[in-house]
Amino acid sequence: MALKTREEYIESLRLLKQRVYLFGELIENPVDHPIIRPSLNSVAMTYELAQNPEYEDIMTATSNLTGKKINRFCHIHQNTQDLINKVKMQRLCGQNTASCFQRCVGMDAFNAVYSTTFEIDKAYGTDYHDRFKKYMIFVQENDLVVDGAMTDPKGDRSLSPSKQSDPDLYLRVVERREDGVIVRGAKAHQTGMVNSHEILVMPTISMGPDDKDWAISFSVPVDTEGVFSIYGRQSCDTRKLEENADIDLGNSNFGGHETLTIFEDVFVPNERIFLNGESEFAGMMVERFAGYHRQSYGGCKVGVGDVLIGAAAVAADYNGANKASHIKDKLIEMIHLNETLYSCGIACSCEGSETKSGNYQIDLLLANVCKQNITRYPYEIARLAEDIAGGLMVTMPSEKDFKDPKIGPYVEKYLKGVASVSTENRMRILRLIENITLGSAAVGYRTESMHGAGSPQAQRIMISRQSNLGQKKELAKNIANIKE
Ligand code: SF4
Ligand code: FE
Repeated sequence: MALKTREEYIESLRLLKQRVYLFGELIENPVDHPIIRPSLNSVAMTYELAQNPEYEDIMTATSNLTGKKINRFCHIHQNTQDLINKVKMQRLCGQNTASCFQRCVGMDAFNAVYSTTFEIDKAYGTDYHDRFKKYMIFVQENDLVVDGAMTDPKGDRSLSPSKQSDPDLYLRVVERREDGVIVRGAKAHQTGMVNSHEILVMPTISMGPDDKDWAISFSVPVDTEGVFSIYGRQSCDTRKLEENADIDLGNSNFGGHETLTIFEDVFVPNERIFLNGESEFAGMMVERFAGYHRQSYGGCKVGVGDVLIGAAAVAADYNGANKASHIKDKLIEMIHLNETLYSCGIACSCEGSETKSGNYQIDLLLANVCKQNITRYPYEIARLAEDIAGGLMVTMPSEKDFKDPKIGPYVEKYLKGVASVSTENRMRILRLIENITLGSAAVGYRTESMHGAGSPQAQRIMISRQSNLGQKKELAKNIANIKE
């Protein structure tokens, strides 16, 4: 069963005994929990679209390990077309969910760990790459969702892992055994953890010789003993608990989520370990993962941007403002910004190259430029959407008032825009814009655009490292006839 259906995916999650806490309580049934379910639906979309023949080229690929047809989210990229198709797949999924569909972190981790393990083995004669290939076959054959877990809590940012007052602030090996290791620590901001089958842990920063116990990469099932998650709050999340909530949610079907996931003395068997103390390779794994995920945003955020631009245009229609030249111009500006982001995602894919292991890596400079733009343009697109939507987006009464027999007719009458459009539809489109710019999806569209896959300064460091300023100086001196 290399491709699961949406239903098979949902049923497979029910079999897991993952421990998840939300509002101080252990959740009995995460699959059907009203706060969690929209995020599950977003991941389920990655299965649903892969079943659609129209999207076969984008959503599926042929495995280099088994020769079988697999979901592209489980694929090891084999050429630049694979990298391009990845971005197209992410835009498509963003368009269909208007939220974070969570499955990319695992895909980006697969490709970073695949190439890095190959190079560790070459240096040390270890067998991490073979172990990882076996793991990937298991993932592909079962069409699994894997949470790529990188970000440690990090404590005092000025200190390396081994110098922290609490050594657990970076996930680490606390005991080495013949058959594996025991690890302790946590991973923060874990996208899609509750909707995943497996966790693939990687280090979070470059490390030195003192940090060997922290230089660890491995995988475990999400319901492994000692692993548990605390679900992250999102703005407006409790609206999902209101009876019959629909209009006020803006996007009642889809969402994303993050967790703080704790590893409390968790046993990892040898065959699931992919880096263990070779601390100089931690940086390579981090840099490659970050590069892939910075490319990813040139697809997913663009897809959500498409929905937001559409919502702003519909709001303008419903407000009767669609003919105003400044509104048309703002929509053009939003499209220009969104397509610029897409261009970056496509460009870093086209300029990709083969790694020593044979998989394909994006162009690191262009992927970092992509992500740097992502830290800015979604904010501007959101600002323009709010401008076009008008203040009613944040002042209008609730769905309950609208449906109330006494108050409702007043809401209906006074919130009317153009006569041909129902007040309900006007409310719906404004709530969608609220959801993406200020509500639960803003976690993904705004702040995650800033800090996800590394905060803006991280990209600036990479841009400075990759940009070859010395060569640019030489070019200038040549043109100016400066001879030194
Ligand atoms: Fe995928 Fe985007 Fe969510 Fe990252 S933020 S997991 S790239 S949808
Ligand atoms: Fe992310």
